[in-house]
Amino acid sequence: MAEKKNNEKLEKLRHSAAHLLAHALMELFPKTKLTLGPPTKTGYFYDFLPAQNLKEKDLEAVAKKMTEIAERDLEITHEEISKADAKKLYKDNPFKLEMIDGIEEDTVGIARQGDFFDLCKGGHVKSTGLLKHFKLTNLSGSYWRGDRDGQALQRIDGVIFPTAKELRIYEKRVEEAQKYDHRKLGKQLELFTFHEDGPGFPFFLPNGKTVCNQLIYFMRKNLEASDYQEIQTPIMLSAELWKQSGHYAYYRENMYFSEIEGKSFAIRPMNCPGGILIYKNRPRSFRELPLKLSEFGIDHRHELSGVLHGLFRVRSFTMDDAHIFCTQNQIEEEVLKLIAFVNKILNRFNFAKINIFLSTRPDDFMGNEKVWDKAETALKDALKKAEVQYTINEGDGAFYGPKIDFVIKDSMGREWQCSTVQVDFVQPENFDLTYIASGGQKTRTVMIHRAIYGSLERFLGILIEHYKGKFPFWLAPVQAKILTITDEQNEYAHQINEKLKAAGIRTVVDDSSEQISAKIKTAQLQQVPWMLVLGAKEQEQGTIALRPREGKQEFGLTVDQLLSKAEALLQDS
Ligand SMILES: [Zn+2]
Ligand SMILES: [Zn+2]
Repeated sequence: MAEKKNNEKLEKLRHSAAHLLAHALMELFPKTKLTLGPPTKTGYFYDFLPAQNLKEKDLEAVAKKMTEIAERDLEITHEEISKADAKKLYKDNPFKLEMIDGIEEDTVGIARQGDFFDLCKGGHVKSTGLLKHFKLTNLSGSYWRGDRDGQALQRIDGVIFPTAKELRIYEKRVEEAQKYDHRKLGKQLELFTFHEDGPGFPFFLPNGKTVCNQLIYFMRKNLEASDYQEIQTPIMLSAELWKQSGHYAYYRENMYFSEIEGKSFAIRPMNCPGGILIYKNRPRSFRELPLKLSEFGIDHRHELSGVLHGLFRVRSFTMDDAHIFCTQNQIEEEVLKLIAFVNKILNRFNFAKINIFLSTRPDDFMGNEKVWDKAETALKDALKKAEVQYTINEGDGAFYGPKIDFVIKDSMGREWQCSTVQVDFVQPENFDLTYIASGGQKTRTVMIHRAIYGSLERFLGILIEHYKGKFPFWLAPVQAKILTITDEQNEYAHQINEKLKAAGIRTVVDDSSEQISAKIKTAQLQQVPWMLVLGAKEQEQGTIALRPREGKQEFGLTVDQLLSKAEALLQDS
């Protein structure tokens, strides 16, 4: 209840701040045509048609004007007026006129503060004086009604908070996010790069590939322990197949096509049809179910160049995918196992929190209502048995089946949706997936799609920011860097290196002619978890001085002592 009240309060603040923003725009640039300015989940924005395009630097003047209007402490009032009167108010604004025509009631709401007015449903703070702790965050382009073919507009985004303290926390968070932006750290730590010859197609450098491989090994070990069987299916498949799966009809715009011997082929945007063809390879008996086929599948999806964003929004990515083919009665047990599996994997990364959402039948669902009910009950029962808290998103499921989403909260308090478990009744129909039941009758198979990292590329981007570039020992591209104090220790350093490598530790020797202080600085910038410093004393005693990235230095360690420390850090990975 308290949360709901809080949300209402925030929504009023954000909504009122949008009016304040529009008011400031109209005072500064009276020829501006306002369009829409709603509150959002994180703040508010206003879309408008400027007489002359605003520039980034204009935001400061807009914010200053907002403060000035806020200080006038104008009362905010709301009234209902006739549509005819509203049209008179907006006779020069075709956008508002169109909005007025779209309102079903006979009257429309108008909010007023001073001589400014705006079309509005209501829900404000009492006066502009209460709008204190705000900030304008972005100026961008948008379109009327979000339609790319429609009128091009400009958009200003902003945030507002009830207290100065909350605004400060927000600003600190933004500052941190910029400081630890994965694109910046990716370059600094030599993890990945992009090239103009492949826009949106990431190139993994050896360090980044090593981290990805660790993610894959960790996943593969857990998959094997949970009776998954790994498969690999083609990246290119006939357009006919994508017609059968429905992707051609609904997703064609985002797919890449090519021709082979006069026949159309598509580069896959997802891995499901490949898995399905393996299921259909031969008739299946109930004894084989659940059949769990996993695949690290490389997918390509067309994204407009304007939305590409480091590893977060790419055109090619690897999904840690799996499809579980089972009977209707097995859904609950399989989902229960999946909840445990997802939690086990995600818990390895020390996220601040994992929130679970169950999305149920949408209005435009496909398939049989009774089957849907049964599946939704199975998911709810599984969540209950797993003793996890979850939120229901009513009507938010995919048209082909209900789903469970896992949203992680990272070390900077940001939320990311990665893992998803989706029941599917439609693809089994499209591809006529069946099994022979115990009584000998052909029965429709149920399919569960699930991914845990989601896209490995995006997950890596999230991890880079979550760890602020400091990968834990098990994931670090280089786990230990061996630093010699003088050239005298070079041979000893390589002996230690061989021993650690043989034990599976990822090590590098820095036997350059740099001063030890410079070697340490380089290793620190590379965020290497262990620096192993070797001087005359260590060489003489046959020991190692350990200088960890975090924590205290230790002297006089033997190789065996070091290895047991590593072993403790590598447990469960
Ligand atoms: Zn309003
Ligand atoms: Zn799938």
